[in-house]
Amino acid sequence: MNEFEVIERYFRRPPRNGDVRIGIGDDGAVVAPAAGMEYVLTVDMLVEGRHFAAGADPRQLGHKTLAVNLSDLAAMGALPRFVLLAGALPVAEPDWLQAFMRGFDALAAQYDVELIGGDTTRGPRTFCVTAIGELPAGTAITRGGANPGDTIFVSGRLGDAALALAVAGRRVEVDPMLLPALQRRLDAPEPRVALGVALRGVASSALDVSDGLTGDLRHILDASRVGATIDLAAIPCSDALRALARGPQRPLALACLLAGGDDYELCFTATPAMRERVDALAHALSVPLTPIGAITAEPGLAIRDEHGAPMASLPHAFDHFA
Ligand code: ADP
Ligand code: MG
Repeated sequence: MNEFEVIERYFRRPPRNGDVRIGIGDDGAVVAPAAGMEYVLTVDMLVEGRHFAAGADPRQLGHKTLAVNLSDLAAMGALPRFVLLAGALPVAEPDWLQAFMRGFDALAAQYDVELIGGDTTRGPRTFCVTAIGELPAGTAITRGGANPGDTIFVSGRLGDAALALAVAGRRVEVDPMLLPALQRRLDAPEPRVALGVALRGVASSALDVSDGLTGDLRHILDASRVGATIDLAAIPCSDALRALARGPQRPLALACLLAGGDDYELCFTATPAMRERVDALAHALSVPLTPIGAITAEPGLAIRDEHGAPMASLPHAFDHFA
């Protein structure tokens, strides 16, 4: 297959939504914004050997390539609408491409996201998605809106993806019965799309936890010029991780919980007056939303351990260039 056959066969599809004037097939896509709405644009790249292992399941990879971008849009409170997909492939392998697009398309269909363009080239396996989300003008949730006294929440549970990675790297062992669930968290994260949209007007700040809680929370603190105190015991995690944290593997467990990447949960802040609305959202969306601490006027991030004592050293968040 040549480049154009690959595009025809796996990527080309007619425009679906009325606001897509020109979709795949021209030099660029044309989209008409709706009155009173703003677009949120984000791009995320997945590189073989860095974000996924050589030999990774193509269907899960297709899912994850899109999921990490939808997660960024969710963190802004945006409804995902359009995506562009750029891919480098060492070879054009039909089965592989088909499985990849099955994973990609299934998630796109779930949220009615439309693929409107991209680029295809030969090279070391790399995928880059540009995602475009929509929200009413002025309602984007940023990292800069947290205020002293706000409560800090996280959705779902943290640390399981990092734990799966640690198990795969033979740095720790867990009950084999627990492995499939852990592995799913790593390979097929579910972006918190509905939650992100519902947090408009509720959250004062938000981001998605992709590089570890403490590192990511620091981005909110920096952007908002505030500090925070969080309680280790309050951070929601699996029983497997909680049990590890009580034993000799405590340092690894805390690293997964506080600095593990790939969770794709949302961390957000809200005033105490919003507490009932947050609880109602958790109920309506069936997503645990757990308060883990509070924003403080004094800068810096303090974490209290299970006994209420300040933790002296914190595991570091992931940094590609550290
Ligand atoms: P150009 O050379 O002008 O960049 P291409 O020949 O690369 O255009 O692409 C032809 C059309 O196919 C364009 O509309 C482009 O957006 C689309 N396209 C190419 N690769 C992909 C892809 N991986 N996913 C979706 N659309 C793609
Ligand atoms: Mg091109």
